Amino acid sequence: MKPLDLDVFLCRTDNFGVLVHDPETGLTASIDAPDADAVIAAADRRGWTISHIFTTHHHTDHVEGNLALKEKYGCEIIGPINEAVAIPGLDMTMSDDDTFLFGEHPVRVIETPGHTAGHICYHFTDDKLLFAADTLFALGCGRLFERPPADMWHSLQKLAVLPDETAIYFGHEYTLSNARFALTIDPDNERLKARAAEIEALRAEGRFTIPTTLALEKETNPFLRAGDPAIRRNLLMETKTNEEVFAEIRKRKDNF
Ligand code: ZN
Ligand code: FE
Repeated sequence: MKPLDLDVFLCRTDNFGVLVHDPETGLTASIDAPDADAVIAAADRRGWTISHIFTTHHHTDHVEGNLALKEKYGCEIIGPINEAVAIPGLDMTMSDDDTFLFGEHPVRVIETPGHTAGHICYHFTDDKLLFAADTLFALGCGRLFERPPADMWHSLQKLAVLPDETAIYFGHEYTLSNARFALTIDPDNERLKARAAEIEALRAEGRFTIPTTLALEKETNPFLRAGDPAIRRNLLMETKTNEEVFAEIRKRKDNF
């Protein structure tokens, strides 16, 4: 089986567009549709035709291109069952642990409520790719608009058990601000300090920080590290639950 071919581009201001192309079948999925013109331009550059949109959640910056892309390509739109009414042009709904094939590539849906109540991530299990949108960012996690912190913590734990080498594609280029914040929570983490320096350099050159890996996030992302003794000591929360520590980190980021 030939490997999938990915194309990543920035759209709107800080949203990532991602196209996933299967050279075997010619299928091309757009992960969300932040901006129809940007998606079409990327597809044209590669000579690809959009066959699917894999929607993660209902926010405008993830679905605004749905109808225009459907009009142009007649593509099939897949999305979360718990947000079905809010997603334009939806053809097929998915819930937790549903699986389907993209060409011959197995995909598993993981429900990750938190940022929104019905947010889903797409895990290409054999390809070791995760499209995490606004649930898990490089060094960050999505803001909690529709669910309490404990739900998001639980959702992140569902991602944390995937294979360490999983490549994670996320929804926004927020990494520089996330890195600066992470250093306030976990200031003595040597891996985080090194990574933050790399990110400063990448962004100074205008380069993207996508993708990341699960191994790297587990070592450096404070939102996955609420159980870490040094972080707990730093926050004076050594006797609190992981959910409480996570909630405190999320609150501090909201005010950062
Ligand atoms: Zn969002
Ligand atoms: Fe977003």
